[in-house]
Amino acid sequence: MLDHAVIDGLFPADLPEPEELERLYPPRQLPAGAQVTRFGPSPTGFVHIGGIYVATIDRDVASHSGGVYLVRVEDTDQTREVEGALAQFARAFGYFGIVPDEEDSRGAYGPYHQSRRERIYLSYVRDLLRRGKAYLCFATKDELAAISARQQAAKIPTGYYGEWAIWRDAGPEAVMANLAEGVPYVVRLRAPDDAAGRRVRYTDVIRGEVENDANRNDAVILKSSDSSPRLPTYHFAHAVDDHLMRVNLVIRGEEWISSVPLHLQLFDALGFTPIAYAHIAPLMKQIPGGKRKLSKRKDPEAGVGFYIQEGYPAPAVLYYLRGLANGRLAEVPLAQALASPILLDQCGVAGPLVDLVKLADISADHIATLSGPRVLEAVGVWASEFDPGLAGVLEAERDLALRALAVEREGVENPRKDLRKWSDFRDAYGFFFPQLFTPVSGSADERLAPVGVDPATAASFARDFADGYEHLDDQQEWFGQIRELAAKHGFAPSAKEYKANPDAYPGSVREASQLIRVSLTGSTRSPDLHAIARAIGAPEVLRRVRALAG
Ligand code: GLU
Repeated sequence: MLDHAVIDGLFPADLPEPEELERLYPPRQLPAGAQVTRFGPSPTGFVHIGGIYVATIDRDVASHSGGVYLVRVEDTDQTREVEGALAQFARAFGYFGIVPDEEDSRGAYGPYHQSRRERIYLSYVRDLLRRGKAYLCFATKDELAAISARQQAAKIPTGYYGEWAIWRDAGPEAVMANLAEGVPYVVRLRAPDDAAGRRVRYTDVIRGEVENDANRNDAVILKSSDSSPRLPTYHFAHAVDDHLMRVNLVIRGEEWISSVPLHLQLFDALGFTPIAYAHIAPLMKQIPGGKRKLSKRKDPEAGVGFYIQEGYPAPAVLYYLRGLANGRLAEVPLAQALASPILLDQCGVAGPLVDLVKLADISADHIATLSGPRVLEAVGVWASEFDPGLAGVLEAERDLALRALAVEREGVENPRKDLRKWSDFRDAYGFFFPQLFTPVSGSADERLAPVGVDPATAASFARDFADGYEHLDDQQEWFGQIRELAAKHGFAPSAKEYKANPDAYPGSVREASQLIRVSLTGSTRSPDLHAIARAIGAPEVLRRVRALAG
């Protein structure tokens, strides 16, 4: 074993001792049962919707148990780091309103950036080296590749373990000689001698009893000595941080489950009490013949940006995600689902499917419960970023926008469900605004083709309608104008009569209404025509109908 003096010489002289760190970050004074959870985003420039999913669970479990939820930025892999990633992260979590109790700006257990915790990690690495639980490894990439090739040829498990671990039992002279020459090294954990062939058992909060092979690899815990800052691997940082931040429930993605045997060894070597784990099954996507994990590369909906850009309201997405976590929460109304706890023992072991059609339905239902002013506000916020043209119109035409949104929304039992997301607004409501209204283009023939009335009749009908138009308040009286004019222009009084004798009429009263509809909305489908006319106002009604008159 190396001399303590040699070991200490590898580290800054003023590193704190583990005991000091234990004192600095004492156990938390929390009520019994309080869960301290954390979310550890890596700043790679992409926020996965699965991150919102897991963080929602973290936040929820902490809140409902009277505990603490903290965010720790896991930026030890600086090669993967992307400029602006943290801002993106803040924006994504801001959108969903998932706010930690502790993060960089507040909390007594920081710093909450791993890259700022170098001295803490080094203190524990030094401690493990002093106690012979870790060692310096100078193996080069080529040597590691050669070891792996020989193991493959011999058909035995690959890895750095046992007699294959060439620096595991190296004498101090060899180590000192390399140190004297400044050869870079990593620090590895010495896996217990009897690890090979042993099994470990632990209880996962979601999966129950899990059994696995013990880890026998001498895992790297501190990256190369020629890098600066000298940062730990994920595994080592997890053990040190979650211990010192006094986390008592690690909720994380299922992909880490295979690392638990190593993590348990780390906790043991460091003398830490192990922490409970809850491994969350990943969000999945239906594909022909099966399902697979939502993929950052293949599926736009894997990224949080997708939901923000499309303008899915945060409560609808959160409601949906909570329903995926706990099926029972999909069965209760939104407000109740958002307020009821997510129970870890109800989280499935199989990854739930993300179904955008389902989300859109949920979202439309949710938006239908909102008042016009609230919808307008949300659309405005969305548009100011993603559709500035629309934002300008909404600002200039606030009253018109509110009148438009009131149509079949306010004072009715079943409000329209014409918005699934804020980006639907332009298509669904754009025609109300003179600035956004595009009359059906093309020749009169083309414009009227969907209505099926000959252009000459349509034009004279429209002209008469405009000439005698009364902007009546009463819906029946307003429609009366169309009915009377339709009769005057020879339209059949009912669809039935028209059908029975199609050559005798230019259409029925229904086609006559459709003429007005197409002229007012540019479409053959729309909400109640009278309500639209009242919302856009008489001058605009006349302008649009006259356009049809040619
Ligand atoms: N930084 C890790 C990740 O992005 C966090 C895993 C954990 O929660 O422990 O996967």
